[in-house]
Amino acid sequence: MKKKVMIIAGPCAVESREQIIRIAKELKELGVDMLRGGVFKPRTNPDSFQGLGDEGIKYLIEAKEITGLPIITELMSIEQVKMYADKIDIIQIGARNMYNYELLKELSIYNKPVLLKRGISATYDEWINASKYITNGINKRVILCERGIRGFDSNTRNVLDIQAIPYIKKHSNLPIFVDPSHAAGNNYMIHDTSLAAVAAGCDGLMIEVHDRPDEALSDKEQAITPGELKKIINDVKKISEIVDN
Ligand code: PEP
Ligand code: MN
Repeated sequence: MKKKVMIIAGPCAVESREQIIRIAKELKELGVDMLRGGVFKPRTNPDSFQGLGDEGIKYLIEAKEITGLPIITELMSIEQVKMYADKIDIIQIGARNMYNYELLKELSIYNKPVLLKRGISATYDEWINASKYITNGINKRVILCERGIRGFDSNTRNVLDIQAIPYIKKHSNLPIFVDPSHAAGNNYMIHDTSLAAVAAGCDGLMIEVHDRPDEALSDKEQAITPGELKKIINDVKKISEIVDN
């Protein structure tokens, strides 16, 4: 039976009102299901762009109002969850916060979907256990997201663990999404790894897209253009028609 693979796309970060609305409109045209855009950015280097914060959420909400696309953004603290849980459609918990059990427990009391990224070197069982901090409460709507685990070769940012997909499908009832962007760290790998993830049976993809990658304030190397996303969406449809998982 043909399965619909959900496509979440958008820039690494909301950079300005104009930027997120412009990109959201292009993504809407392509038929994506949801808009991503980081406003609180967990940057490895404290001197890197940290996101627009509260102002960025306003722009993301405006992009939703204009395009009708639901929105997902990362929240990093209990205070941010209290402030914004009811204003966004999915709360993203980043790889760096997968082990932040106080934050996960806070999410357990909301009736709001959470996309829980796999920790940078978390085992499958640590990741599934982290999800239980949320689902042990009233919040049963968790999506697990494989985003690559730390490897040893600096030619890629992380290593996309395709095996996570069949493992999660066998050992958890939660949907499994894949973020090829933070795994690859290179834009030229996103098409092929997206198709591999769909062939392996993932339920959705989250892909970083920027219409002007050279100008992106974060993760520009891995950003693909809307044109490149269009080809991925077409090819994903073809793969999902032939796989039965
Ligand atoms: C992101 O998706 O914006 C992000 C920071 O990803 P990760 O938590 O997987 O590094
Ligand atoms: Mn990013």
